[in-house]
Amino acid sequence: MNAIDQLVAGYRRFRRGYYEENRQQLMELAHLGQSPKVAIVACCDSRVDPAVITDSTPGSLFVIRNVANLVPPCEGEGDWHSTSAALEFAVCGLEVEHIIVLGHARCGGIRALLEGQAEGCEDRFIAGWMSLAESARQRALDRTDLNTLDERIYACELDAIRISLSNLETFPWIQKRVAENRLQLHGWYYDMASADLLCLDAEAKGFVPPPDPAGST
Ligand SMILES: [Zn+2]
Repeated sequence: MNAIDQLVAGYRRFRRGYYEENRQQLMELAHLGQSPKVAIVACCDSRVDPAVITDSTPGSLFVIRNVANLVPPCEGEGDWHSTSAALEFAVCGLEVEHIIVLGHARCGGIRALLEGQAEGCEDRFIAGWMSLAESARQRALDRTDLNTLDERIYACELDAIRISLSNLETFPWIQKRVAENRLQLHGWYYDMASADLLCLDAEAKGFVPPPDPAGST
């Protein structure tokens, strides 16, 4: 079965299974509109699906995906601000209460940033986009305690999350809501090989496993 046939077969299973089992909820979502509490900025990487790894259902996550889950700073130049437009809608339109920047291990975008070019690509667009994380690249290269490329990529992946979090605060409508405690910003890092999740803890000043929520299993 080719890739498209697999998708169509999957759609049919969804229609007969999930859709029928959750028809009422999906109908309500369709008629009443979405009101997700969380926006998540994730990588395009096919192995890091935010809804799958958080076991979330339709309507609960506003997902923004781009290369290397980067958030640009708020800027007026240029016309094609896909990520900024999606953030504006999530924050000002939907009034989400949380924004998560979800980084991940083995990120091709971060690897391209450190290696200079994405494998097999002309790099017409990727290098410019990845320059958002240039200071993370420089810091990873400058660190004398890191020996291998993989160690530098890991450091860069974590640091790029911090850059995106600080860029989020350059948007005045995000800054205002954070100051008013109506919006919280989070940095997460997911390793698809181990399924380990780390969360940026401001007090610990680093990425640590998330605490178990009360009542979880
Ligand atoms: Zn990635």
